[in-house]
Amino acid sequence: MTTSASHFWDAVAAGRIEIPYCETCRRYVFYPRAACPYCHAPLHCWIAVGGGGRLTGCTQVRRPAAPEWASRIPYWFCLVLLDEGVTVPAVFDAAAEQDQPAPGLRVVVEARPLWGRAALVAHPSPGEGRT
Ligand SMILES: [Zn+2]
Repeated sequence: MTTSASHFWDAVAAGRIEIPYCETCRRYVFYPRAACPYCHAPLHCWIAVGGGGRLTGCTQVRRPAAPEWASRIPYWFCLVLLDEGVTVPAVFDAAAEQDQPAPGLRVVVEARPLWGRAALVAHPSPGEGRT
C-alpha cells in the first residue's frame, strides 16, 4: 500500500518535489495526507513544483535527524514557503552558507541525495546576492 508520505519520499528520491493538490478547493496541501484539511475531499492529485520560495525560519541542528548525518552537525534546518503557498522543511545547503540564513531569503529547494539519503535541500536562489 502506498501512503501519502511514501509517495512524497519516493518522488524526492527520484529528484522531484511533488505536492498534493486539492482539485475541489484548488489549493496545494502540505504535509501529504489522505484528505484535504480545508474541504475534506480525498487528495488524489500530485503536482511537481519548481522549488522556488522564501525562507521563513532556520535553526541550527546539533543532534542529527538521521544517523548518517551525525558527522555533519551542526547544520542548518529551515522552513521554506514555496511559491505554491505551502511550507516545506529542508536542509540548508551547508556549502552555500556559513552564517544563519536570514528569513525572507529567496531560495530554491531541490530534491536530491544529501549525505546518503534523499532530502529536500535549500540553497540561495541564483541572483540573490548578499551585500
Ligand atoms: Zn480542498
